[in-house]
Amino acid sequence: MTTQEMMKEYQDWIFKMSSYQMALSIIGIDKMTVAPVNGSAYRDERTAFLAGEMFSIETDPKMVEIVKQLKDDPEVDDDTRRAAAVYYENAVKTLCIPKDEFVAFQQLANESYDKWLEAKNKADYAVFEPYLKKVIEARKKMISDRNSDRSIYDEMLNDFEPNMNQEKYDTFFNALKERLVPLIKKVTEAKQIDNSFLFQDYDIEGQKKFMDHLLQYLHFDPEWGYQNETEHPFTSWTCENDCRTTTKYLKNNVVSAILSTVHEVGHAYYEHNIDPKYDGMILSDGVSSGMHESQSRFCENYLGRTRAFWEYNYPFLQKQFPQQLGRIDLDTFVNALNVGVPSLIRTEADELTYPMHILIRYEIEKGLFNGTISTDGLDTVWADMYEKYLGVRPSNAKEGILQDVHWSDGSFGYFPTYALGSAFAAQFMYAMRKDMDVEDALRNNRYTDCISWLKEHIQKYGFRYEADEIMKMATGEEFNVNYYLDYLEDKYTMLYHL
Ligand code: ZN
Repeated sequence: MTTQEMMKEYQDWIFKMSSYQMALSIIGIDKMTVAPVNGSAYRDERTAFLAGEMFSIETDPKMVEIVKQLKDDPEVDDDTRRAAAVYYENAVKTLCIPKDEFVAFQQLANESYDKWLEAKNKADYAVFEPYLKKVIEARKKMISDRNSDRSIYDEMLNDFEPNMNQEKYDTFFNALKERLVPLIKKVTEAKQIDNSFLFQDYDIEGQKKFMDHLLQYLHFDPEWGYQNETEHPFTSWTCENDCRTTTKYLKNNVVSAILSTVHEVGHAYYEHNIDPKYDGMILSDGVSSGMHESQSRFCENYLGRTRAFWEYNYPFLQKQFPQQLGRIDLDTFVNALNVGVPSLIRTEADELTYPMHILIRYEIEKGLFNGTISTDGLDTVWADMYEKYLGVRPSNAKEGILQDVHWSDGSFGYFPTYALGSAFAAQFMYAMRKDMDVEDALRNNRYTDCISWLKEHIQKYGFRYEADEIMKMATGEEFNVNYYLDYLEDKYTMLYHL
């Protein structure tokens, strides 16, 4: 086959795959947002069938051979070579799994999600435990089929964050432990900042009105983005001009929906800002989970929790809730937004203690896949670890092991990227400050100036380069965890007058 013939086959193939991908994304979004629960069995079976069809297309032997050749073909452009290499690597991984096993896993993952939700609502780990066990066994089998030199957990870590493994994560988490555990202790012993006014009664209609304002400030444009509500906020997309986010309103917490929105819209921007020339191909995606989280956590923490951000936005929130916030001044509000208090729920955790929530999940995952921990009594192991690292203990499984969705569909190895992303973000902020006055942009309703910097230095590349290459291009140096630790130490030393 000539290069031209191969390119024609290749173009048809990626178009077909992106069509299935789009259908599956929309079905997934629908399931998580509005689909009636009683239809789940019917839907799950058919979704698994579609995923199986997608699997067959992705692993079509003729196409695997074509991308294998294109990835090294000097006659095609660099972008196509890179895309072909990524498709090839993915196909090789997928090919290791027999199709019936793959389809059975999709089905199991869907059922497991439903059981997780039921268990969470009942705060009963026993409902979910047999499914968790099955999902872990299935994932172990799927990964060991790859016959890789790496351990099973290393393979999973690498799936979400290419080039990462337990050794590197151990170094990373040890650095966090070394400097953050004593810092959290000092903060816990310092004079506490009163943030109780954030947790009064805030009617949800009022919160939604403020949300309309916030989405405008963020420039989350309805022409390419849409926000819905879910139990567990997430972002999904079909292409650069169709990005969906969700949020969750809590009556007794005025900032939860706000910060989760800033976070999810950060994810949406990443997808929206990828160079459109990569549309429909694998390069049109964030390069890694850690890089994706770096963009969302950058927006949430390094922009959304700052005084400058609220200099512009706080008057609107005050106007919406005069009774609750009328007498609270800006500094008091911003300080309250940044308190560092050990808590039970990861998604509501503050910036300082957040990485400890991740460390706990990392240690449990390592144990589950290296055979030192089992699903039996895992709710107690979880509670013990919270006591050890954060000094708090969940009173039931809903605020303990059942709080997160990730393990229900077998996404092990994903959590560590959250902490990594937060650390990447600190280094990006350091670099951004050299180029522009971040505070000036935020306080003067020019949020998108910050987004433009992220687009220019990180987001536009999509999957074109590896995460470590992008880090180097954007900041001029390799990833260095000290930017993150210095940032947290400086911030919390000042906030708590340590
Ligand atoms: Zn996120």
